This record gives sequence, structure tokens and C-alpha cells, in this order.
Amino acid sequence: MESVQVQGTSVPAIGLGTWQLTGTDCRETVRTALELGYRHVDTAQAYGNERQVGRGIAAADVDREDVFLTTKLDGGNRDPASVRRSVHESLAKLGTDYLDLLLIHWPNAPWMVDNGETLRAMDRLVDEGLVRNVGVSNFPRDLLDDARRQSDAPIITDQVQYHPYWDQRELLDYCRIHDVLLTAYSPLARGGVLDDPALVQIGNRHGKSPAQVALRWLVQQDGVAAVPKASSRDHLAANLAVFDFELTDAEMERVRDPSKVTTGYHYARSMLPF
Ligand code: NAP
Repeated sequence: MESVQVQGTSVPAIGLGTWQLTGTDCRETVRTALELGYRHVDTAQAYGNERQVGRGIAAADVDREDVFLTTKLDGGNRDPASVRRSVHESLAKLGTDYLDLLLIHWPNAPWMVDNGETLRAMDRLVDEGLVRNVGVSNFPRDLLDDARRQSDAPIITDQVQYHPYWDQRELLDYCRIHDVLLTAYSPLARGGVLDDPALVQIGNRHGKSPAQVALRWLVQQDGVAAVPKASSRDHLAANLAVFDFELTDAEMERVRDPSKVTTGYHYARSMLPF
């Protein structure tokens, strides 16, 4: 597994996304993923699966220290007391005494506490050793810039939707200048890339599937990691097998430049909460 270095922290370039994984399926998927070689797991308080994620990690024959584990604060847990209480709850559910990364899941709405107040509460958990790194999710460039100024602990990542149909060039430029990792969520466009003709054609040249081309395209970009969700063993294994080939510059550009119709369709689809 290749890793991305960000502000002194090493983050495995492919992680396991766990949104919509629940119950024993979740536990077994996490366990299988770790046994296949994953060392990065992404969950959230809002996914309601932290307990099963923790059980999957415990069931796998892998040291906790070797797993980069991320969770995210739910929308109702943004004031300082709720940050502290909910992180203790997450730790108990996950069966661990520290998080590798704690994110604000979405920017705080105007009627909530200020993002800076949430970040300072997260910083205190870093000081206490309960959280090793902090970051944000779904922050546009201007809010990421504010967050970097408001947090004492370095913001090591912005986790955002990023795939061939979702342009993030401006944010990525900013992240590279400031050594912030861009973590790509929904990197397979929630399955949308699977029958993309350009990805099929490029994949055929390399003996890879369209999903593998989409993931390769992401991790071949400096400062980018991706957290695809998969539930079958075959998909889990396929998504790790993206470090043994390289896209040419022309192929990178071709993937970056899908039709406007496809981009529009996926923009509309991404607005659906399922
Ligand atoms: P995704 O990873 O883009 O796509 C998942 C879909 O692709 C599933 O239907 C999966 O099927 C399929 N798939 C996976 N690998 C495949 C392969 N090799 N070949 C064919 N199909 C494959 O979608 P996502 O779940 O939206 O995003 C991934 C993760 O990002 C989430 O689980 C979550 O951790 C994170 N996320 C974060 C936010 C946020 O606000 N921060 C928002 C959305 C998602 P199977 O399950 O059948 O394998």
C-alpha cells in the first residue's frame, strides 16, 4: 500500500469507505479489507456503524497502531461539550483509545457554533492524546482557509467528493500549496464510473477495470488519497490493485475531461441522499 505524506503524517492512499455498511456485513467487510491489506478505514458518527467498524478491526489480525482510523463529528455534536462527549462515545464504540483523524463532517450551519469553536474543542482532544490529527470535510476553499487559521492543530485533510465527474482543481491547488491532503470520497461516483466508455477503453489497455482506472487516476495525483466503499471481497481486492500500473499524461487528461452531460448527470445524482 502506498501512502501520502502530509505535514509529517503518513496516510495510506486507499482507505475503506464504510457509509451504508451496517451490522455484521460491516464488521466482516472491515475485517476482510484489513486482511487483504487495507490500513485506512473511514467512518462517521452519522453512519451509525462505529461499533461494527471497531469489531471488524478487533477481529482482523492487524495491530491497531497499523490502522489509520477516521471518524467524523455528527451535525449535532459541534459545540465543545458535545465534541468531547461524542468523541468519547466514538472511542468506546470503536474499541480504541485514540483516533488517527477526527473531521468536521460538514461545515457548521450559521445557526450552529462557529467552525472555529468546534476546531478548538477538537484541538483540546489532540492535546490530550485522544485524537492524533484533525481535519474537515465538505469545506470549500475559503472555509478551509478559515479553518486552517482557526485551528491550533494543523488541518491535515479536506475530505470532499472527487471523481472524474467532479472537478476539484481549485481546491487541490490550494491543498498542494498548504500541504493539506485531499481525501476523495465517492471516488467511484457511487458506481457511476463503472460503464464509462473512456474508462473502459483505458482499462482495456492496462488490463484493469473502469473502477481501477478511476482510483488510479485519483491516487496518481500528488496529495490525493481515496476512500472507496466496497462490500464484496473481489471489489475490495480490486480497489487495492491500483499501484501496479500507471496512466499516461494523455490518459490522465482524458479521464479528467468527461462530457458535460455525464458531469451534469452525476452532479444531480450526488444531491440525492441515497
Ligand atoms: P463509492 O466508493 O464511489 O462507490 C461505491 C459503489 O461502488 C458501491 O456500489 C460498490 O459496490 C461499488 N464498487 C466498489 N468497488 C468496486 C469495483 N472494484 N468494481 C465495481 N464496483 C465497485 O461511493 P460512496 O460510498 O459514496 O463513497 C465512498 C466512501 O466515501 C463512503 O463509504 C464514505 O466512507 C465516504 N463518504 C464521505 C462523505 C462525506 O460527506 N465526507 C460523503 C459520502 C461518502 P459493492 O458495495 O457491491 O462492492
